[in-house]
Amino acid sequence: MTYKIALVPGDGIGPEVTFAAVDVLKAVSEKFGCSFEFNEYPAGGCALDKYGVPLPQETIDGCLASDSVMLGAVGGPKWDSVPADKRPEKALLGLRKVLGLYTNLRPAAIQPALADACVLRPDIAARGFDLMIVRELTGGIYFGERGRNEAGDVAYDTETYSVMEIERVARRAFDAARKRRGHVTSIDKANVLESSRLWRETVHRLGETEYPDVRLDDMLVDNAAMQIIRDPSFFDVIVTSNMFGDILSDEASQVTGSIGLLASASLGESSRGMYEPIHGSAPDISGKDLANPIAAILSAAMMLRYSFDLAEEADAIEKAVSDVLSDGLRTADIKSPGQEDWIKGSEMKEAILDKLRRN
Ligand code: NAD
Repeated sequence: MTYKIALVPGDGIGPEVTFAAVDVLKAVSEKFGCSFEFNEYPAGGCALDKYGVPLPQETIDGCLASDSVMLGAVGGPKWDSVPADKRPEKALLGLRKVLGLYTNLRPAAIQPALADACVLRPDIAARGFDLMIVRELTGGIYFGERGRNEAGDVAYDTETYSVMEIERVARRAFDAARKRRGHVTSIDKANVLESSRLWRETVHRLGETEYPDVRLDDMLVDNAAMQIIRDPSFFDVIVTSNMFGDILSDEASQVTGSIGLLASASLGESSRGMYEPIHGSAPDISGKDLANPIAAILSAAMMLRYSFDLAEEADAIEKAVSDVLSDGLRTADIKSPGQEDWIKGSEMKEAILDKLRRN
């Protein structure tokens, strides 16, 4: 079978890191015999310049006709003053909507070899951690009823969740846990919020009936915010609502110390997902070969694991990345203070390709 991958490289460092990930996928294809077809589509600022819209119909059609989508990053200062409906970020929201993506998976991991880049206390960082936040993406308070009173001096936003919305994101979390270490922590505020009590009941019912093999526990969101800093190695998969996930995923990614290492996936009902590094278009380093390609390369590994069920191939990419980091290779964003022998983004890609071919 040939997997059709829509490439949406976007702006700034987006193309640099996306094509680095494509090279890695080509090496995977040579090594394991799987087959990928790549088609490139415009989105973001570059699409606005060329077609007058950030998300052309051609891109939507191309993504819908693909087995998965790999996105680089969109945006940059050049488009900061364009009207709201033309902003490059509209392309991201538009793609999520047309592809029906309601779950975001964001791993945050640190290896002992990178402990010096981590902002946590050295003894905690040295233990390493590897967690995955599964965030509900299309419901909750960001999409609930909102408004103001007539005088405009009272405002409200409503957190609303249905059993269906909770079940479908929880299923993604349990499925992810089965591919990892078999542990889900559901995060809510059930001591205060009715929507959280429904969340907790629903996750537990699903766990007991469909995923008895997965260990499930609950944690209140305020405690979770502390535990991610105090003992992140406790967590395997975290499942939570849109707003709590928004906050906790940023917290978890920041404690790892480098934005250039972190991948993400957005998934919906079908196996098709959208995979992208969490970083933006980094206009400050664009075109200088300084972009760390690892986040995009690890996003490609997530695509193999979660959309194509190619676990062995995904493991091989993750191992190659982990090996180059263990060898001490560092791009500028993850170098130790005072380290002089850091490498360019393209050299990091070559080192990963080399490991992948030899391992
Ligand atoms: P950013 O993530 O682009 O950059 C933040 C900092 O991290 C910069 O110093 C940058 O050089 C560094 N950085 C980011 N990725 C890196 C990598 N792979 N290797 C090494 N260093 C890296 O965030 P920003 O500066 O706030 O935003 C820049 C533009 O990107 C804005 O237009 C913003 O709207 C857009 N943006 C897009 C996305 C997306 O497409 N998903 C996400 C965030 C920001």
